[in-house]
Amino acid sequence: MIVESSHLAKPFLLAAEGLNKSFDGFKAINDLNFYLDEGELRTVIGPNGAGKTTFLDLITGRTQPDQGTLVWDDAKHDLLKLNEYEIYRLGIGRKFQTPTVYNDHTVTENLILSLAGSRGIWHSLFGKVTPAQRERIAEILATIKLTNQAYRKAGELAHGQKQWLEIGMLLAQEARLLLVDEPAAGMTDEETYRTGELLLSLAGKHTIVVIEHDMTFVRQISQGRKVTVLHQGHVLCEGPVDQVQADERVIEVYLGRKSKVA
Ligand code: ADP
Ligand code: MG
Repeated sequence: MIVESSHLAKPFLLAAEGLNKSFDGFKAINDLNFYLDEGELRTVIGPNGAGKTTFLDLITGRTQPDQGTLVWDDAKHDLLKLNEYEIYRLGIGRKFQTPTVYNDHTVTENLILSLAGSRGIWHSLFGKVTPAQRERIAEILATIKLTNQAYRKAGELAHGQKQWLEIGMLLAQEARLLLVDEPAAGMTDEETYRTGELLLSLAGKHTIVVIEHDMTFVRQISQGRKVTVLHQGHVLCEGPVDQVQADERVIEVYLGRKSKVA
């Protein structure tokens, strides 16, 4: 597989080129090119219907594109030839907008269930947890700041805490790439800020793509980093957050929809 692009001077983690996906003749993804380096924390913004979630569906194998290239880890893997489970096994983890945790299990059990190489639910919950796994769980609990909730049922957690648990589950999976769709939705300002701090603490160790609307949050996590603006399934522009927010085309796209980038 050869990805022909001047963008690819160094090894990359994920590359999409000429990606297209239509639903009943409507182009949700339209000739999309997107390149991600290892360790990046990339924010993707764009109006409703811009194709952001569909793009994540394509990366995770939930949806198949009509056309295009989608390759992983310096093109060692062609994602379009793999199914959802195989893509997950490569280390591509996704957090959906609505938390999908096991409500009847404790926070710790949720993390144990997600541990990489976990051998089925029964074994995970009733089999022996090794000292190394116990240590890893403690480390993740500290990272997601849920140590003092470790033995609470996930169903009893506040909305924000559930979202952090789900990010913790991606860490337990040892996901190399974390795809996070609108984490701030439904969160309080305080929860949103703490989510930003969590994602910033993970950047570098993991590669993260965050889709978000909340511009205060976007500014918090994207200082000195690249922001991608998606519009009508295509990259409208990419660059530092200040540059993107000042871009005439971006302002027009948002103003055209009676919302603004501020
Ligand atoms: P965003 O996440 O940027 O708000 P989406 O990717 O959810 O946008 O949607 C982009 C467009 O594609 C929307 O018009 C949406 O209705 C359409 N779309 C997404 N998924 C499907 C699907 N499975 N079937 C039909 N239309 C879809
Ligand atoms: Mg969406």
